[in-house]
Amino acid sequence: MITKYPSVLLIYTGGTIGMIENPETGALENFNFDQLLKHVPELKKFNYRISSYQFDPPIDSSDMEPQAWAKLVKIINYNYDNFDGFVILHGTDTMAYTASALSFMLENLSKPVILTGSQLPIGVLRTDGKENLITAIEIAAAKINGKPIVPEVCIFFENHLMRGNRTTKINAENFNAFRSYNYPPLARVGIHIKYEPSRIRKLHEEKPFIPHYLFDTNVVILTLFPGMQEGVISSILRSPELKAVILKTFGSGNAPQKEWFIRELKEANERGLIIVNVTQCSSGAVEMERYGTGLQLLQAGVISGYDSTVESALTKLMFLLGHGYSNKEIRYLMNTSIVGEISRDL
Ligand code: ASP
Repeated sequence: MITKYPSVLLIYTGGTIGMIENPETGALENFNFDQLLKHVPELKKFNYRISSYQFDPPIDSSDMEPQAWAKLVKIINYNYDNFDGFVILHGTDTMAYTASALSFMLENLSKPVILTGSQLPIGVLRTDGKENLITAIEIAAAKINGKPIVPEVCIFFENHLMRGNRTTKINAENFNAFRSYNYPPLARVGIHIKYEPSRIRKLHEEKPFIPHYLFDTNVVILTLFPGMQEGVISSILRSPELKAVILKTFGSGNAPQKEWFIRELKEANERGLIIVNVTQCSSGAVEMERYGTGLQLLQAGVISGYDSTVESALTKLMFLLGHGYSNKEIRYLMNTSIVGEISRDL
């Protein structure tokens, strides 16, 4: 039931934000969510109804798996009508994968789902966790004319609200740990939260919310490098269970011109493997027509990932394969923006 107060469901999956140093080993380990909340008495000052759900046990995000994404979808679906927005506390290491996956799984989302975490645990004096948590809650509850301002899956970190499926972790030290290189921030946060309505997905309340749960994880990321060996590449591409490959190429989507390499890709394509070209560069897009070294990939049947992040291309492939789309449909959908994950609208 939605009360007159804004309501937010806080889902705690784990991560540094809720960790404490083990006095014996010095390593960071998860601690209880109630203890975490004790360190943020500010939450009581919100005039919001804040409820929480805790993963038991909480997990370091390096242990994140598609089953846990499905669990998050289940929690959101179960509570969908009862809250204005959702905040997911998550380790930073794989947060961009989870945000990307959720963006595909929560079809026709009309409420904010904001992921955040921190680089320092919330119990540490200089923590970045408090501000991240408090601002994420504010964003999840934010409305204009009674409608949510950001009805999409986002990552909020430090001072940027970013589209989740455009985001990558880029720093293991600084508080400003995430970037969205190929799509500008949906809001900048300083003294004020300055939303950019033109960059935010439009609300389509008339469309029913549809949760999805399925993934096929028979995919691999193959990063190209000078000196690649035929035997190694060939055995990867011929793995019996493999259905799709993200090829992390050079520059604007280029690869070595070795005869064996192009032959292997061509044959893999003929066997039905889906090969998606994503650049190793942090910023910019794949343009296979630009150089001969890219064109040969196109001719071998490789499809463009445009300006997709690796996290987004990977989870999108898992999602599409998991839902039983045909090879032809997947090739088409990988070149189509489903939820703003690539700068291309067909
Ligand atoms: N290893 C931690 C995790 O991803 C790092 C963090 O939360 O920042 O769970």
